[in-house]
Amino acid sequence: MREGSGPRLYVTDDLDAGRTVGLAAGQAHYLKNVMRLAPGAAVVLFNGRDGEWSARIDAFGRNACAVSVGQRMRTQAVEPDVWLLFAPIKRAPLDFLVQKAVELGVSRLQPVNTGHTDVSRVNTDRLRANAMEAAEQCGRLSLPEVGDLVAFDAALDGWPGGRRLLVCAESGPARPIGDVLAETRASEGGRAAALMTGPEGGFTTSELDALRKLPFVTPVSLGPRILRAETAALAVLACWQSVLGDWRSVRIQPSKAT
Ligand code: SAM
Repeated sequence: MREGSGPRLYVTDDLDAGRTVGLAAGQAHYLKNVMRLAPGAAVVLFNGRDGEWSARIDAFGRNACAVSVGQRMRTQAVEPDVWLLFAPIKRAPLDFLVQKAVELGVSRLQPVNTGHTDVSRVNTDRLRANAMEAAEQCGRLSLPEVGDLVAFDAALDGWPGGRRLLVCAESGPARPIGDVLAETRASEGGRAAALMTGPEGGFTTSELDALRKLPFVTPVSLGPRILRAETAALAVLACWQSVLGDWRSVRIQPSKAT
């Protein structure tokens, strides 16, 4: 396999030409037993800090794999700063939501326990594993942060200044998402944003009332149809990326040694 090709893997080690990096047991298993790669095979590494690097497998050990770092293929770029706060939903749609939100470039995933949330526990490790796999597959150079499940009030307490929260409100007063985003773009604001969606049962009336009173909240509508929770989360993220995020640039940076 040619240099700079092969499976893409996220690692936590620093990346620099000539370094040897040890892969996690799961990654070693994947390369050896799933991809059936041998020493000498090419892989691609990123760590969220140093860009993307070509590498080659040196050797497999028991539950281990050492790779040698080659050349930098892409430099680390600043990515959109957009959080997604969402009420957790059942396992299969939640996995889907996390994977697709990562592909759409979310910078932080924050599950929030709301009054109508049906799911009492969230497996954060599973969310992180899904996020990592999605980042590896879609060519992202970073992993989003994944927060542990927090209570509704705790998610809003101490809200960071300068970060507007667009709440997808399926009922009550709300402005069309397109209008809000176009206005934010015209004012050259919105560099740090957060988007919030409710559970299958929707936000409670008191939650929507409380949200509407917060100075950093803008309630938005996603149109006349009631969307499934995961559809709403992905739709609002796609809208945001297209107007304020990195969908305004042309395409994926081509890989080339730097
Ligand atoms: N049970 C609620 C109802 O019947 O009105 C629907 C909840 S919806 C399945 C889940 C979440 O998706 C909502 O809490 C909201 O955040 C978001 N959502 C769905 N459709 C929406 C729309 N048309 N506009 C804004 N938000 C929407």
